[in-house]
Amino acid sequence: MKEMESLFAVQEEDVVLRQLQHRKENLHEAGVVANTESRLAELSKSKDLLSAEHLETIQRQKRFEQEVEAVESRISELDGKLYGGMVTSPKEATSLETEIRHLRERQNELEEKILELMEEVEPQERGIEKVNNEIGETQKELEIAREALQVTSAELEETLKETHERREKAASETEAGLLKHYESLRGAFGSSVVVQFDGNNCKGCPSAMPAVEADRLKQIPEGSYSDCQECGRIVVR
Ligand SMILES: [Zn+2]
Repeated sequence: MKEMESLFAVQEEDVVLRQLQHRKENLHEAGVVANTESRLAELSKSKDLLSAEHLETIQRQKRFEQEVEAVESRISELDGKLYGGMVTSPKEATSLETEIRHLRERQNELEEKILELMEEVEPQERGIEKVNNEIGETQKELEIAREALQVTSAELEETLKETHERREKAASETEAGLLKHYESLRGAFGSSVVVQFDGNNCKGCPSAMPAVEADRLKQIPEGSYSDCQECGRIVVR
Protein backbone atom coordinates (compact mmCIF):
# COMPACT_ATOMS: atom_id res chain seq x y z
CA MET A 1 0.00 0.00 0.00
CA LYS A 2 2.73 2.39 1.11
CA GLU A 3 4.70 1.60 -2.01
CA MET A 4 1.89 2.51 -4.39
CA GLU A 5 1.24 5.71 -2.47
CA SER A 6 4.86 6.67 -2.88
CA LEU A 7 4.64 6.02 -6.63
CA PHE A 8 1.58 8.27 -6.82
CA ALA A 9 3.59 10.85 -4.89
CA VAL A 10 6.44 10.54 -7.42
CA GLN A 11 3.95 11.11 -10.22
CA GLU A 12 2.43 14.15 -8.51
CA GLU A 13 5.86 15.72 -8.03
CA ASP A 14 6.74 14.97 -11.65
CA VAL A 15 3.65 16.88 -12.73
CA VAL A 16 4.64 19.81 -10.52
CA LEU A 17 8.22 19.67 -11.82
CA ARG A 18 7.03 19.81 -15.40
CA GLN A 19 4.85 22.83 -14.64
CA LEU A 20 7.69 24.56 -12.81
CA GLN A 21 10.07 23.82 -15.69
CA HIS A 22 7.57 25.26 -18.14
CA ARG A 23 7.21 28.35 -15.95
CA LYS A 24 10.98 28.70 -15.76
CA GLU A 25 11.28 28.64 -19.55
CA ASN A 26 8.49 31.20 -20.02
CA LEU A 27 9.05 33.68 -17.22
CA HIS A 28 7.23 36.95 -17.83
CA GLU A 29 10.09 38.75 -16.09
CA ALA A 30 12.58 37.27 -18.56
CA GLY A 31 10.49 38.62 -21.41
CA VAL A 32 10.53 42.09 -19.86
CA VAL A 33 14.32 41.94 -19.51
CA ALA A 34 14.74 40.81 -23.14
CA ASN A 35 12.41 43.58 -24.40
CA THR A 36 14.18 46.23 -22.38
CA GLU A 37 17.57 45.01 -23.59
CA SER A 38 16.51 45.21 -27.20
CA ARG A 39 15.04 48.69 -26.69
CA LEU A 40 18.34 49.74 -25.15
CA ALA A 41 20.24 48.30 -28.11
CA GLU A 42 18.02 50.28 -30.50
CA LEU A 43 18.56 53.49 -28.54
CA SER A 44 22.28 52.95 -28.48
CA LYS A 45 22.23 52.42 -32.25
CA SER A 46 20.38 55.69 -32.85
CA LYS A 47 22.72 57.47 -30.46
CA ASP A 48 25.70 56.24 -32.51
CA LEU A 49 24.03 57.44 -35.70
CA LEU A 50 23.20 60.87 -34.28
CA SER A 51 26.70 61.22 -32.82
CA ALA A 52 28.28 60.36 -36.16
CA GLU A 53 26.13 62.98 -37.93
CA HIS A 54 26.94 65.52 -35.24
CA LEU A 55 30.67 64.82 -35.50
CA GLU A 56 30.56 65.18 -39.27
CA THR A 57 28.83 68.58 -38.99
CA ILE A 58 31.37 69.77 -36.43
CA GLN A 59 34.23 68.64 -38.63
CA ARG A 60 32.81 70.41 -41.68
CA GLN A 61 32.34 73.53 -39.59
CA LYS A 62 35.94 73.32 -38.43
CA ARG A 63 37.22 72.92 -41.99
CA PHE A 64 35.30 76.02 -43.09
CA GLU A 65 36.60 77.97 -40.11
CA GLN A 66 40.15 77.02 -40.99
CA GLU A 67 39.52 78.12 -44.56
CA VAL A 68 38.15 81.45 -43.27
CA GLU A 69 41.32 81.93 -41.26
CA ALA A 70 43.46 81.25 -44.32
CA VAL A 71 41.38 83.66 -46.40
CA GLU A 72 41.59 86.34 -43.73
CA SER A 73 45.34 86.05 -43.43
CA ARG A 74 45.69 86.20 -47.21
CA ILE A 75 43.51 89.33 -47.24
CA SER A 76 45.59 91.04 -44.59
CA GLU A 77 48.74 90.05 -46.48
CA LEU A 78 47.35 91.64 -49.65
CA ASP A 79 46.09 94.68 -47.70
CA GLY A 80 49.59 95.08 -46.37
CA LYS A 81 50.98 95.04 -49.87
CA LEU A 82 48.35 97.40 -51.22
CA TYR A 83 48.68 100.01 -48.50
CA GLY A 84 52.27 99.43 -47.54
CA GLY A 85 53.63 101.59 -50.30
CA MET A 86 55.14 98.65 -52.16
CA VAL A 87 52.81 98.80 -55.15
CA THR A 88 54.45 100.47 -58.10
CA SER A 89 51.81 100.44 -60.81
CA PRO A 90 48.04 101.15 -60.90
CA LYS A 91 47.65 97.86 -62.75
CA GLU A 92 49.16 95.96 -59.85
CA ALA A 93 46.93 97.87 -57.41
CA THR A 94 43.84 96.95 -59.44
CA SER A 95 44.80 93.32 -59.56
CA LEU A 96 45.37 93.29 -55.79
CA GLU A 97 41.99 94.96 -55.21
CA THR A 98 40.28 92.40 -57.44
CA GLU A 99 41.88 89.53 -55.59
CA ILE A 100 40.90 91.05 -52.23
CA ARG A 101 37.32 91.46 -53.44
CA HIS A 102 37.17 87.81 -54.52
CA LEU A 103 38.63 86.72 -51.21
CA ARG A 104 36.03 88.73 -49.29
CA GLU A 105 33.26 87.09 -51.35
CA ARG A 106 34.72 83.70 -50.52
CA GLN A 107 34.90 84.68 -46.87
CA ASN A 108 31.22 85.67 -46.86
CA GLU A 109 30.26 82.41 -48.51
CA LEU A 110 32.18 80.42 -45.95
CA GLU A 111 30.73 82.35 -43.05
CA GLU A 112 27.24 81.73 -44.34
CA LYS A 113 27.97 78.01 -44.56
CA ILE A 114 29.35 78.05 -41.02
CA LEU A 115 26.14 79.67 -39.79
CA GLU A 116 24.06 77.03 -41.56
CA LEU A 117 26.11 74.28 -39.96
CA MET A 118 25.78 75.88 -36.54
CA GLU A 119 22.02 75.79 -37.03
CA GLU A 120 22.27 72.08 -37.84
CA VAL A 121 24.41 71.37 -34.78
CA GLU A 122 21.86 72.66 -32.30
CA PRO A 123 19.02 70.23 -33.08
CA GLN A 124 21.57 67.45 -33.39
CA GLU A 125 22.76 68.15 -29.88
CA ARG A 126 19.19 68.26 -28.61
CA GLY A 127 18.54 64.91 -30.32
CA ILE A 128 21.59 63.34 -28.69
CA GLU A 129 20.57 64.69 -25.31
CA LYS A 130 17.06 63.26 -25.73
CA VAL A 131 18.42 59.83 -26.67
CA ASN A 132 20.86 59.99 -23.74
CA ASN A 133 17.97 60.66 -21.37
CA GLU A 134 15.99 57.78 -22.84
CA ILE A 135 19.04 55.53 -22.50
CA GLY A 136 19.39 56.53 -18.85
CA GLU A 137 15.73 55.80 -18.15
CA THR A 138 15.84 52.50 -20.01
CA GLN A 139 18.95 51.46 -18.09
CA LYS A 140 17.08 52.10 -14.87
CA GLU A 141 14.12 50.08 -16.16
CA LEU A 142 16.51 47.28 -17.12
CA GLU A 143 18.04 47.25 -13.68
CA ILE A 144 14.58 46.97 -12.08
CA ALA A 145 13.52 44.28 -14.58
CA ARG A 146 16.69 42.28 -13.89
CA GLU A 147 16.14 42.50 -10.16
CA ALA A 148 12.55 41.29 -10.56
CA LEU A 149 13.76 38.42 -12.73
CA GLN A 150 16.41 37.56 -10.19
CA VAL A 151 13.88 37.47 -7.32
CA THR A 152 11.37 35.35 -9.26
CA SER A 153 14.08 33.00 -10.52
CA ALA A 154 15.47 32.51 -7.02
CA GLU A 155 12.00 31.71 -5.67
CA LEU A 156 11.35 29.33 -8.52
CA GLU A 157 14.71 27.59 -8.06
CA GLU A 158 13.92 27.14 -4.40
CA THR A 159 10.53 25.61 -5.22
CA LEU A 160 12.16 23.38 -7.84
CA LYS A 161 14.75 22.23 -5.32
CA GLU A 162 12.11 21.41 -2.71
CA THR A 163 10.00 19.58 -5.27
CA HIS A 164 13.05 17.59 -6.44
CA GLU A 165 13.79 16.65 -2.86
CA ARG A 166 10.21 15.47 -2.27
CA ARG A 167 10.32 13.54 -5.53
CA GLU A 168 13.62 11.89 -4.58
CA LYS A 169 12.27 10.95 -1.17
CA ALA A 170 9.13 9.41 -2.67
CA ALA A 171 11.24 7.64 -5.31
CA SER A 172 13.50 6.17 -2.63
CA GLU A 173 10.44 4.72 -0.94
CA THR A 174 9.28 3.08 -4.16
CA GLU A 175 10.50 -0.36 -5.22
CA ALA A 176 13.27 0.04 -7.80
CA GLY A 177 11.74 -2.22 -10.45
CA LEU A 178 8.37 -0.49 -10.21
CA LEU A 179 10.00 2.93 -10.37
CA LYS A 180 11.93 1.87 -13.48
CA HIS A 181 8.71 0.59 -15.04
CA TYR A 182 7.01 3.92 -14.22
CA GLU A 183 9.94 5.84 -15.77
CA SER A 184 9.75 3.79 -18.95
CA LEU A 185 6.07 4.70 -19.42
CA ARG A 186 6.37 8.43 -18.70
CA GLY A 187 7.07 9.35 -22.32
CA ALA A 188 3.83 7.70 -23.40
CA PHE A 189 1.49 8.67 -20.55
CA GLY A 190 2.95 11.81 -19.00
CA SER A 191 0.99 12.75 -15.89
CA SER A 192 -1.14 9.58 -15.78
CA VAL A 193 1.29 6.65 -15.87
CA VAL A 194 -0.07 5.22 -12.65
CA VAL A 195 -3.85 5.33 -12.17
CA GLN A 196 -6.48 3.91 -9.83
CA PHE A 197 -8.84 1.07 -10.51
CA ASP A 198 -12.20 2.39 -9.37
CA GLY A 199 -13.76 -1.03 -8.87
CA ASN A 200 -15.04 -1.37 -12.41
CA ASN A 201 -12.74 0.61 -14.60
CA CYS A 202 -9.15 1.69 -15.03
CA LYS A 203 -9.19 5.47 -14.63
CA GLY A 204 -6.64 5.80 -17.43
CA CYS A 205 -8.75 3.99 -20.00
CA PRO A 206 -10.58 6.36 -22.34
CA SER A 207 -13.69 4.14 -22.36
CA ALA A 208 -15.24 1.42 -20.25
CA MET A 209 -13.10 -1.68 -19.72
CA PRO A 210 -14.11 -5.02 -21.18
CA ALA A 211 -15.66 -7.14 -18.42
CA VAL A 212 -12.94 -9.76 -18.65
CA GLU A 213 -10.15 -7.20 -17.97
CA ALA A 214 -12.15 -5.62 -15.14
CA ASP A 215 -12.64 -9.07 -13.64
CA ARG A 216 -8.93 -9.78 -13.90
CA LEU A 217 -8.11 -6.60 -12.00
CA LYS A 218 -10.70 -7.37 -9.35
CA GLN A 219 -8.72 -10.53 -8.65
CA ILE A 220 -5.41 -8.83 -7.79
CA PRO A 221 -4.80 -8.01 -4.12
CA GLU A 222 -5.91 -4.59 -2.94
CA GLY A 223 -3.07 -2.12 -3.01
CA SER A 224 -1.14 -4.02 -5.66
CA TYR A 225 -0.84 -3.16 -9.31
CA SER A 226 -0.94 -4.56 -12.79
CA ASP A 227 -0.42 -3.26 -16.28
CA CYS A 228 -3.78 -2.42 -17.79
CA GLN A 229 -4.26 -4.65 -20.83
CA GLU A 230 -6.41 -1.99 -22.44
CA CYS A 231 -4.38 1.23 -22.19
CA GLY A 232 -1.00 0.05 -20.90
CA ARG A 233 -0.93 2.20 -17.78
CA ILE A 234 0.00 0.96 -14.32
CA VAL A 235 -3.34 0.42 -12.68
CA VAL A 236 -3.55 0.17 -8.90
CA ARG A 237 -6.31 -1.70 -7.16
ZN1 LIG B 1 -6.41 1.29 -18.64
